[in-house]
Amino acid sequence: MDLPWLNEPMELLRQDTIEGRLAHAYIVSGPSGVGKTLFCQRLAKILLCTNKSEAFSPCGSCVSCSTFENESNPDLLHIYPANGGGNINIDQIRAVNEFYSYKPHYGTYKITLIVPATSMNTNSANALLKILEEPPRGAVIMLIASSPGHLLPTIRSRCLNLRIPKPDWDAISAWLSEELSISPSSLNNHTATLYGGPLEILKSIDSDNDQTSLFDALLADLVSLSNGTYYAVDIAKNYGGTEIKEFLDTFELVVSITLLAIFHHTAINLKLCKTSFEKIVFLSEKYRKSKLFEIIDLIKTSRELLLRSQGVRAHDIIEEIFISFVASE
Ligand SMILES: [Zn+2]
Repeated sequence: MDLPWLNEPMELLRQDTIEGRLAHAYIVSGPSGVGKTLFCQRLAKILLCTNKSEAFSPCGSCVSCSTFENESNPDLLHIYPANGGGNINIDQIRAVNEFYSYKPHYGTYKITLIVPATSMNTNSANALLKILEEPPRGAVIMLIASSPGHLLPTIRSRCLNLRIPKPDWDAISAWLSEELSISPSSLNNHTATLYGGPLEILKSIDSDNDQTSLFDALLADLVSLSNGTYYAVDIAKNYGGTEIKEFLDTFELVVSITLLAIFHHTAINLKLCKTSFEKIVFLSEKYRKSKLFEIIDLIKTSRELLLRSQGVRAHDIIEEIFISFVASE
């Protein structure tokens, strides 16, 4: 996936690498959903590649690149909270120490990603501090944090800060509409909710405005429908009083978020409330991309049909979309 707004910070690190000025530790900060973790993973792959191009791209075929793809590169350590939402504990930071007690397997670097670094408790942070005070040769430690101010000042003072700024709305909407093949106009309806960061489509979806209620209702109904709890024609009746334009926009949004979850293999960057998150994950595991793109096409066609033809009944369109959604591929 091409994330054009990451090119500039990557260029800074490319120059640092070429000029031998790469730091041992970086705090990679920026708003949620801007792609900080993806950025660090890309950087790690490039640094670890033993045959990288001058343009700072991984070759994709050396043993380092292939083990990276299989998530088994021994020169990369990924630290994240042990049990989902908890802390990064001291044993995990001790593992970082252990990791650096061996030389790199393939190239000259050994890279640790700590995501999110603000999950370290005081003991873990102090243990990391010891490593940062005497950084091992070839170590590049990336601390990923949306709120770097929450890290210990002693940690901050030993890392270089690399901030990934939020792209402007035009750049976000151009990227999203291309990535998801949806119309920029339908994205514009959700400017406020999208604007946290390109990868974070719905930061404020769980605030309680009308759009949210419709979003939640639709999401719940799509899960019931997919489980076979209800029939499409019965579910369609729930939307008799909904304005058709709002229905189509919201349906498109649910499908787009599900697609985004598929692209990322998980809904990792979506700040949905827990129940919505689980439903999106469920849908992303149940449906294929091709099916979801088909539904987006159907929504577009329905919009055109409504514009062109006077006699079209909103209810028929709603029914057709639900039926198509559960129809076998
Ligand atoms: Zn390579």
